[in-house]
Order: sequence, then C-alpha cells, then structure tokens
Amino acid sequence: MKILVINSGSSSIKFKLYDMKNESVMCKGLIEQIGSDNSFAKISTAHGSIKEISRPIANHAQGIDIMNELLFNSGVVNSLDEIDGVGHRVVQGADVFSDAVLIDESVMAKIEELIPLAPLHNPAHLAGMRETLKVRPDIPNVAVFDTVFHQTMPKSSYMYALPIEFYEKYKIRKYGFHGTSHQFVSKAAAKILNIDYDKFSCITLHLGNGASIAAIKNGKCIDTTMGLTPLEGLMMGTRCGSIDPAIMPFLMENANLSAKEVDNIMNKKSGLLAIGGSNDMRIIEQKMDAGDENAKLAFDMFVLKVKKFIGAYIAILGKIDSIIFTAGIGENDARIREAVCEGLEIFDIKIDKIKNKESKDEPRRISQIDSKVRIAIVPTDEELAIAQDALRIIKNKGNK
Ligand code: ADP
Repeated sequence: MKILVINSGSSSIKFKLYDMKNESVMCKGLIEQIGSDNSFAKISTAHGSIKEISRPIANHAQGIDIMNELLFNSGVVNSLDEIDGVGHRVVQGADVFSDAVLIDESVMAKIEELIPLAPLHNPAHLAGMRETLKVRPDIPNVAVFDTVFHQTMPKSSYMYALPIEFYEKYKIRKYGFHGTSHQFVSKAAAKILNIDYDKFSCITLHLGNGASIAAIKNGKCIDTTMGLTPLEGLMMGTRCGSIDPAIMPFLMENANLSAKEVDNIMNKKSGLLAIGGSNDMRIIEQKMDAGDENAKLAFDMFVLKVKKFIGAYIAILGKIDSIIFTAGIGENDARIREAVCEGLEIFDIKIDKIKNKESKDEPRRISQIDSKVRIAIVPTDEELAIAQDALRIIKNKGNK
C-alpha cells in the first residue's frame, strides 16, 4: 500500500510518498513560493535522484499538478494509479474533529467553517484536498489534524478565563498543536520503555523552531502549552510565547501599531530571534560561546520557560514515567537537554551526561540507571504519523 502525505501550507506544498509495507520513504518533495514568480519544485527519491522545476506556480491547484508531474517523471511511480491513498495534514480541526477522517464534501465544509481559527492554514489545506480529489477521485483521502491528540484535555485545561460567550460564540479555547508529534513520540517512548501506552504518563517536549510541551496521563493528553493559536506557551524561534496579554493593547496605544502589526511581531519577530539575534539555536550557542550576552540571555530564557512547564506539568500529572525530547532542538541539542534537566533531580529526573552527548539518530534513553523518571530522545516523524493514521482510517473503512 502506497500512501502519499501532503502538507499544504500558505505558500508551499510538502509531500512524501511511503511504501507502508515497511514504512519506507519512496520520495519526498516540496513546492515553494507558490503565487510568486520565483516558485520552484523539487523531488528527491530514495534512490538518490533529484529533479527540480523552476517556473511560476500560480496557485495550489497548479502546485498539486506539478507534484504529480514530478512523481511520475522521477520514475517513483509508473502511474499515479499506484498511489492507494492520501493523508493531508490539517492544522486546525478545533473541537469538531476528534480523530482523523475520510475527506468528503461535508468534511471539507467543516474545515472551511474553521477558517477563522486558522486563516492561513485551512484555506491552503482545502486547496490541496480539492485538487487531489479532482485528479484522483477514486482513492481515499484522509484529513489528519494537529489538534486531535489534544482533544482529550479536560475543560479546566482548555478554557480561558474570559467571558463564556467568547467560547460559545467564537470557539475561543485552547486547542494545542503538534498533536501528531506528541502522540507519535510518546507512543514510541512507551514502546522502548516497555510500558502499556494506556498506563503511560509523560511529558513530551517538542522543541523545534515552533515548540510545545504536552502533559500525557495514561496515554491521553491533559494539557499542552500552545493555545487557540501556536503563539501561546514556550519561547520559540520567532514567537514570543506566553506574555502578559496587556502588552498588545499597550503597544497599539503607545507604539502606534495595528493589531495586525503586533500580531506579526509576536509571531515572526520575537522569541530567540528578538533576544539573541537568530531563530536558530545553533547560532545562538555559537554567539553565546563568543561572549554575546544577548545570545546567552536568549538561551537562558528558552531553558527557563521549558523548566517552568515541566514543573507545572509534574504538579498536575502527579507521577510521570518519562520525559521525552523531540524535534530539531530536542533531538540534536545536548546542551539544551542538560540545561533543562539541571536541578530536576528533586523530581527523580537524572540525566546521564555522557549518554546525553552521544549523537545517534534513533530513539534512546539518556537518564541514569537509578533515575525513576526515564529521560528519552525520540526523533519525531510527523509525516509518517500522518501516513499511519491515513492507513488506519482507510483500513477501517474497508472493514465497515
Ligand atoms: P520546525 O519543524 O518547527 O520548523 P524543526 O523541528 O525542524 O523545526 O527544528 C528546527 C530548529 O532546530 C532550528 O531552527 C534549530 O534551532 C534547531 N536545531 C537543529 N539542529 C540543531 C542542532 N544540532 N543543535 C541545536 N539546534 C538545532
């Protein structure tokens, strides 16, 4: 069974084709700068061949056509008929979707209704879905939502202390994101630690350019740091994370900025970039080692916020089996991991500093033998998680 995973963003489409027999990647590609004169498309196959196309790509429909052209011309498939199903990443499923779902007109109408909650993402996802369905109406397309894993949060976690009508009228509540990643790495960790997932409690740290943490009790998410949008929670590459909300009206009144401008600053010009001069943790650390005080401040602020949420989540979870690091920083940055775990011995979280520094590309334990809480690194793979979910939904449909 071959499953194509499509991640259709506001000006890009990323795709990966999996052979689900052994979950191997047959090819991956991307189409960037859709809507501009500089658009280009690229595919690289498991056999090492690379093909690129540089020509204006006006919209997502053209982008999907070029993806199909690349899939065919690179020889990955002899015919598009070889693809058995498609999994589409959808950022915002709100409280409407509590599982991945087969896409039909009514599902697309619901995703469309959620556009106010994801104005950049959901229209792009819909454009990708419509074109894929047009080209291959005969194969199942599945929507896999970033928000689904967090749908088990209790109301006390997801409600904001705002007038209730904002929740009722505008659906303002915490939804959380990176759900496929939190679920994927927590399941993988439970497996390597040999604990049944429905008895497994942990804290997952997805630390990439976008970053979030989830508190998982007996295999179910009970809290997470991102909120109505991905802006809430941790300090990130370019996002400020949680700050005093009164800063927004303050800036609008005193710095003469519009709501849109402040929103843009908080999402794209804040975080590590604003404090340390780069959104890349590797550069922050290089600058810090060269004596740059602001880079050191950015590093310290990032670590402090992660630690604060670990403490908060231990308090609400009670007992945890594991802490799991994942994503670009979580998987690769031993220094951040050591700094985050420093002082957590009081919670029986003891990092093995030598194991932590070993660089390997596989799930592994980095805690000391006598650490009650096992610290693990699990490389995330959101596309594979989407392919697995799509396959599960397609098989269920076949069984009905
Ligand atoms: P996203 O998917 O949110 O764009 P990733 O999970 O790919 O982000 O993480 C990207 C970030 O990971 C980079 O911006 C960089 O800060 C960080 N990163 C990647 N490799 C390393 C490394 N070896 N050491 C430190 N940080 C790293």
